[in-house]
Amino acid sequence: STQDKRALITGANRGIGFAIAQGLLAKGYEVIITSRSLDHAQQAAQKLQSKVIPIELDVSDDDSINQAVATLHPQIDRLDVLINNAGVYPDEGVNILTISRELLDVTMNANTFGPIRMVQAFLPLLEKSQDARVINVSSGYGALESLSADVPSYCLSKLALNGATMMLAQALQAKGIVINAMCPGWVKTDMGGASAPRSPEQGADTAIWLATEAPSHISGKFLRDRQVISF
Ligand code: NDP
Repeated sequence: STQDKRALITGANRGIGFAIAQGLLAKGYEVIITSRSLDHAQQAAQKLQSKVIPIELDVSDDDSINQAVATLHPQIDRLDVLINNAGVYPDEGVNILTISRELLDVTMNANTFGPIRMVQAFLPLLEKSQDARVINVSSGYGALESLSADVPSYCLSKLALNGATMMLAQALQAKGIVINAMCPGWVKTDMGGASAPRSPEQGADTAIWLATEAPSHISGKFLRDRQVISF
């Protein structure tokens, strides 16, 4: 039964992460809402019903990740689902010829190294689950055919995230842990903007499906609309 399953979502105070939290709660999961700001995590938790644990977590900061693990340690003995959703898109006004090392660092740290370090930090708890699943919220911008010189750090970070997902799947296979990357489509959020055609709920669908129902032989893949696609 999914009755007592538990999921942790990064960047869940707004946007697609919040919609994923809503969807998993509706399926009976206990949800750990993490946000860079404890205040924002608590506000998001108040908007939802019971079974929500709000936690402060900045995925680009190892101290913050370790603190979150330590805070959760007495409360949880197992994690069934990790959703690496937090991400930044800071390429406004720069291209691959002008972007600074600092901006490259910010994006790679949050979008690529964050998910890798999250898997490492939560591995002991994921290993306690009978059916552990990790979902990396990636982007179609991380596909070779969509690389754009004007979206340099974001494209690089998501292309690398898709690659890291394959490598992690290889390393996690012996532990029975499944990991996939997915693209939510173009979604109406602070990041996606008002012209985006999809609602956050639509954007969350494939992540929720991967977390709950997808066949567990699918691992190391990149998906959109519940279908494996290439990148
Ligand atoms: P939003 O900008 O609405 O939300 C981003 C979330 O990530 C916020 O909760 C934000 O927290 C959090 N975040 C950013 N950096 C960090 C960090 N270092 N540590 C922890 N949390 C962080 O974006 P979306 O909901 O649209 O995006 C969610 C994911 O979906 C991202 O990975 C994005 O790349 C991906 N995506 C989105 C698309 C779209 O069209 N919207 C298309 C394709 C992919 P805070 O509130 O503190 O800033």
